[in-house]
Amino acid sequence: MSDPKAAEMKQKILDTAMALWNEKGYADATMRELAKRLGMGVSSLYFYFRSKEEIVLYLYRNLNERAIARFRAEKEDADLGKNLVRFLELKLAILEPYRSCCVGIFKEAVDPQSALNPFSSESSDVLDRTVGLFRDLVERSGAGKGDEALRLARVLWFAHLAVILYWLHDRSPESAKTKRMGELLAKGAGMLKMFGGMFGQSEVFDLVSSLFEAGPAPAAPKSAVVPETPPREVDVVVAGAGPIGALYASFLKLQRPRTRILVLERSTEPGHKIGESTLSGFIKALRTVGIRQDVLRRLFYPKNGLGFHHVEESTPDVAQAPEYVLETFNETFQVERRVLDSLVLANARRLGVEVIQGATVDIARSELGRTGDLIRYTVGSREFRVKTTLLVDATGPAGVLSRHLKLHTKEGLTFQTSAVWTYYQNVRSLDKIPGWKGKSQFGRDTYTQHLSLKEGWLWYIPIVSWQEAPSANLDRMIRSVVGARRAPASRDDLAAEYGCPWKDILSVGLVLRSDRDAHLKDDVRAAFEHYSRKYPAIRRLLQGGEVLENYYGTGETFMSRMTMRGYSRQVAGDGWLLVGDAAFFVDPLISPGLTGGTCQAFQAAGETARALDHGGAPREAFAEYEAFVHRLHDALERDNQLVYMSFNHPEATALIQRFQEIDARRHFNETENKDYSIEDTNIWGILTPSYQEMQKRVWAILREEEQAVGTELSVDEQSPRDYERLVARLRDCLGPYVEAHEDLTPYVTQNRR
Ligand SMILES: Cc1cc2nc3c(=O)[nH]c(=O)nc-3n(C[C@H](O)[C@H](O)[C@H](O)COP(=O)(O)OP(=O)(O)OC[C@H]3O[C@@H](n4cnc5c(N)ncnc54)[C@H](O)[C@@H]3O)c2cc1C
Repeated sequence: MSDPKAAEMKQKILDTAMALWNEKGYADATMRELAKRLGMGVSSLYFYFRSKEEIVLYLYRNLNERAIARFRAEKEDADLGKNLVRFLELKLAILEPYRSCCVGIFKEAVDPQSALNPFSSESSDVLDRTVGLFRDLVERSGAGKGDEALRLARVLWFAHLAVILYWLHDRSPESAKTKRMGELLAKGAGMLKMFGGMFGQSEVFDLVSSLFEAGPAPAAPKSAVVPETPPREVDVVVAGAGPIGALYASFLKLQRPRTRILVLERSTEPGHKIGESTLSGFIKALRTVGIRQDVLRRLFYPKNGLGFHHVEESTPDVAQAPEYVLETFNETFQVERRVLDSLVLANARRLGVEVIQGATVDIARSELGRTGDLIRYTVGSREFRVKTTLLVDATGPAGVLSRHLKLHTKEGLTFQTSAVWTYYQNVRSLDKIPGWKGKSQFGRDTYTQHLSLKEGWLWYIPIVSWQEAPSANLDRMIRSVVGARRAPASRDDLAAEYGCPWKDILSVGLVLRSDRDAHLKDDVRAAFEHYSRKYPAIRRLLQGGEVLENYYGTGETFMSRMTMRGYSRQVAGDGWLLVGDAAFFVDPLISPGLTGGTCQAFQAAGETARALDHGGAPREAFAEYEAFVHRLHDALERDNQLVYMSFNHPEATALIQRFQEIDARRHFNETENKDYSIEDTNIWGILTPSYQEMQKRVWAILREEEQAVGTELSVDEQSPRDYERLVARLRDCLGPYVEAHEDLTPYVTQNRR
């Protein structure tokens, strides 16, 4: 802690927490009570400590460091036994004022799932420091070297913990019996090596040592339910800690700070996911929950708009394709999802949301209802239960609840889409393509580029990749920047300080209409190669780049998602609701995934806060949310289909883009300088009745024309010439409207057909 004021405040919080826990016991005292006693708001307290566990970890660290510093300040001695006794004396003296609190804390620390257990990742630095000291002492005494010294040190650490536990129970005057225990330990220490050798393979030492190796928490026998323990209670359980689950929890915590929210996430840590291009609504939501724009700048690649390039078989190069550049609304980002998901989750924790990773919600064995839910989840092979008023399913494409209730469907969608994608390095920057007149406002790489094809489109998304950063380092780096009041150091400085190397890579994916593509279903890599051969502009674009084989360690170089569009017929019920991809997913085109999910998260959080204030979560409490999600889904589906169908002709693409942009920019301008609010849930003004009316009319024209051409010609035979009538009809319908709003569509276009 370099800031002395913050250090002082932390010490004050610690002292007040100790006093409170002494009075009420650690388990019963809440952060809210602590904030009250300190005379500060809960959110100010969260700035320093996100939970009681963090306060205890701070205490652990603090006391341990003091004991080590005092010990090291004394004269060096080679006698292992004597050194251990002295270290224990110093440590117990430092612990003495906290003795009664320690009992409550130790109760918690025996739980292998608790952050306070000494083997947890959260407290690993404290463990490492003490074991490190003991290892020095072992080596100094000559009892062992290297790995052998480490194993002996770990056994000694166990013994030292036993003495501390003994001390907590010791009622003898001046802890005389503990002193005797220490002396015996000192004698035993001298004989440790011999003791290990007696077992030939040192099996006892191996067993002790294995506890220190990183890995899942020790598992109980399979499906060991612990029915005698009453389930704990929270107000809301969120299943899934993707960005939408985490944002929902964050919005709710900000709106109703007293809400007890538990997020259960199946993965033990965020990993690779698809969904890499963001829009202004999502970034605004991140700022609103407290993530600084300059943190985003350090972690991610910038995105300043969208480019559409109409590519045909005869287009030699993207620079010659008719293009339409949708200029920036404001600064957004092209993101690597492991980093984004970690960031949003770390921030949710900072706000006071509890998160358990490695916890899979077992929906089939949970009970949901008007009067409350009982959620069952497993961590490894252990099963846990939690009582809650509301379950929010944010499990993304898994959509565990809607699939369990058989509500998930793909019915009634005009067409399906499927995707294949991969990652490249050393692809030439778009700004270096010869002959591409740089008319766009920003460098070409800072736009998410779309190569529009009649079968679908190709995405081109440059990414700052932190994939080589070890999880623990990445976690520390993110925790250092999340919630920080000052601008973070530069990307390179962060990388150096936290041991997180980064590099530029490129995400490239093809999304194809199932009614127009016959290749993806057989072999996704072969399909990707087929379209690269078919369209020279794709081949040229990626020329010289290298595919990164199995880059994310998923075992796949070419990843895919088949027939990805789908929705749940119902999105709220008694004691449950769905957010994010669990409610619906449309398509990556024009990137509505994270932005649409954010709208749901915000709406759902508002209605949850109101429902909890009324003491329950019956289905009718979410009636508005339900209606909103269905309207949003229909509107996004239509909007998205408009863009696909507009790829039949470059002028149709430009007209549709301009049409969509008018309401989007108007809406953006009206809400730009405010925090994320209910107005933002009308993404791009898409739900505005006048826009909806025109959207339906335009959709009908595009559909009619596409069907008419389709009855005469196969997709392979079609070219923009066959869609001249479509363009004429769109000009009639949209021309005067877009011309009248030229100020709202600052587009760039060139290479017109
Ligand atoms: C090919 C493709 C490209 C895309 N590109 C974009 C894009 O450029 N921009 C964009 O905005 N969106 C894009 N998306 C969409 C984007 O990926 C999603 O909209 C977004 O990830 C949804 O977030 P979420 O939080 O709802 O779900 P997720 O991020 O999927 O999170 C769900 C979480 O739930 C967890 N989970 C699942 N089951 C359980 C369980 N039983 N118990 C506990 N936890 C569980 C999962 O481990 C996961 O972490 C794309 C999607 C696809 C398919």
